[in-house]
Amino acid sequence: MTSKPDTQWLAQLDAALPAANVPTLLMVLLHLTGDRKWLSERYQCTHIRGIDDHDSGGLPPEVQQEVRTAAREALHAWKAGQPAALPDPGIDELVEMMRRSVGEEVPASYGPMVGAWLGLDPAFRIDQADAYRVPAGFHVVVIGAGVAGLCASIRLQGAGIPHTVIEKNGEVGGTWYENRYPGAGVDTPNHIYSYSFARADWSRYFALREEIQAYFVEVSHRFNVRRHIRFHTSVESAVYDERAMRWAVRVTEAGGKSEVIAANVVISAVGLLNVPKMPAIPGLDTFDGPCFHSARWPEGLDVRGKRVAVIGNGASAMQIVPAIAPLVASITVFQRSRQWAAPFERFQKPVPEAARFLLREVPYYQPWYRQRLAWIFNDRIHASLQVDPQWAHPQRSINHRNDKHREFFVDYVRKELGERQDLLQDVLPDYPPFGKRMLMDNGWFRTATRDNVRIVNTGIGKVDGNAVVTADGTRHEVDILVVCTGFDAVNLLSSFRLVGRGGRNVRDHWDAHGAQAYLGVATPGFPNFFMLAGPNTALGHGGSVVALLETQVQYVMSLLKAALDEAGDGFEVEVRQDVHDRYNARVQEAHGRMIWTHKGMSNWYRNAQGRVVAPTPFRNDDYWHMTRNSGLKDFMVRLGRDEDTEPQAVERAA
Ligand code: NAP
Repeated sequence: MTSKPDTQWLAQLDAALPAANVPTLLMVLLHLTGDRKWLSERYQCTHIRGIDDHDSGGLPPEVQQEVRTAAREALHAWKAGQPAALPDPGIDELVEMMRRSVGEEVPASYGPMVGAWLGLDPAFRIDQADAYRVPAGFHVVVIGAGVAGLCASIRLQGAGIPHTVIEKNGEVGGTWYENRYPGAGVDTPNHIYSYSFARADWSRYFALREEIQAYFVEVSHRFNVRRHIRFHTSVESAVYDERAMRWAVRVTEAGGKSEVIAANVVISAVGLLNVPKMPAIPGLDTFDGPCFHSARWPEGLDVRGKRVAVIGNGASAMQIVPAIAPLVASITVFQRSRQWAAPFERFQKPVPEAARFLLREVPYYQPWYRQRLAWIFNDRIHASLQVDPQWAHPQRSINHRNDKHREFFVDYVRKELGERQDLLQDVLPDYPPFGKRMLMDNGWFRTATRDNVRIVNTGIGKVDGNAVVTADGTRHEVDILVVCTGFDAVNLLSSFRLVGRGGRNVRDHWDAHGAQAYLGVATPGFPNFFMLAGPNTALGHGGSVVALLETQVQYVMSLLKAALDEAGDGFEVEVRQDVHDRYNARVQEAHGRMIWTHKGMSNWYRNAQGRVVAPTPFRNDDYWHMTRNSGLKDFMVRLGRDEDTEPQAVERAA
């Protein structure tokens, strides 16, 4: 059955198609027409140079036009009511589609993951209440309503699992709620830095903090999960009661009222980068003026005409400095090491109306645009981060490809500095690119050339009155001191007391060797406790943490489903020590061959013992398959509750 043509929509389509990303449009065509000719050699897109959308796909103009014309025809038919001919390509076909669209070899293991992100995997469906057998009284506590906790709540609700989300702030969003510094924004493109199940009409390719925060608030309303969230409430401790097979979660409200909530399962979604790390600089706490961590930017602070000092030059500083440089009298940046920052032509640019139309209205367009980004910004560079033990220049790079990356970035920095080549030594890192988290350049190098910006490489000795005094005795007098020294990413789960089986505190367990968990999610001694964004799951090689968190939430949901299927009433699942140890040995072995254990540089990925605790050494698809192939076989399972081990009554205290 066909419907009346929507002339306005068709006119918008005509206006938008010239701006289409042709490799993405090819995928749309394949779905809509089912014609495999769109996978033939003639339409093979070329390799993408650097990080770029590669809109033309490298195809000759007449082929690009042919694709647009065919897409127009197919979309007219679709809009008139004709369903897609190929809504559900097979796994092999999805891999072939990826290869054609990104113009390079993509591992065959990508297929099932691409299928899941396109919404073809039923396990990832939001609404599956019919699939879960939830006994009366079963309750889950989620700690945190940030990006991870929100996702967990949406999935738990969809599974019909009663739960409470405990959130210390008065709103959802976590890091996006807290970080309000000027210029705050995401440096992963938003079309991947968003949930696969909750698309948005982004106004910028890399949105600023306000739009991202508004997205998470809107999602919490869209999925109606706010009713599960207790705002202004902090978790003080979670203590496991072995006899009852339950957790006692002590929470305190902002007003001071404290109580204990009993939970069959606890999911920690406290995030990785939210405990500010202040440097141990003598006198810092006596600075004569506003002095604060970047994540605690004071509301309404007026920086106009002020002399500002910034300590650190990581992702936060790199956004703050270019944002305030035109406003302030001067900025002095105290940097300990130099930073690599990559160019991306569309960074922080608005998404043109034509592209927004395609991303919003055209079927399969946004999911495939997203797929391409996920490859371009992430796993594509994984191979280049493996150390070549024979490489002759280990100081500057780790292998031939990494060296080529270095050449590209050096060339870029030189161009950005223009006539101020004298600054090259101040900004050019002496360690291999990607050794620290690769930053996105939003004008950092150009800002360094401004007359009112100064980079200081001498270490800080102390803070005295209104001056930062460097080790050589020079006093740098300023009005405002912004501390951009990052977050405590190595002492995971430090914001509450976690006590597992036999009174075992996670700190005693982890402090000696560093945080470890199986798949970053479960750790022995802590039954029915799962972590999101846990150890060794950060994406050091780029990509979207949101997609990673969705994978982890799906993993936790699959464990819960399996346990509920088996248990009926009451269960205890605890990861097996041997499985956990084997996995972590594999993690460290893989890291031993990768860039983040490279000597001669520091990064927030390693702990005091030099063990890499934050990033994963694995590609996204590897991790995705590990979580899909795991299950209760990797856990010790205790089912049912003895009559004499009924859970303790919920303890309440004033
Ligand atoms: P960061 O990347 O850890 O950078 C900290 C900076 O402070 C580094 O320059 C570091 O120098 C310096 N520093 C640390 N301790 C110091 C000390 N005692 N004395 C002097 N300098 C010191 O922190 P961040 O910029 O807050 O970013 C943290 C992470 O948050 C990022 O990597 C990213 O994952 C996330 N983030 C993302 C965005 C985004 O998406 N746009 C924005 C902000 C943050 P060294 O390099 O020598 O250690």
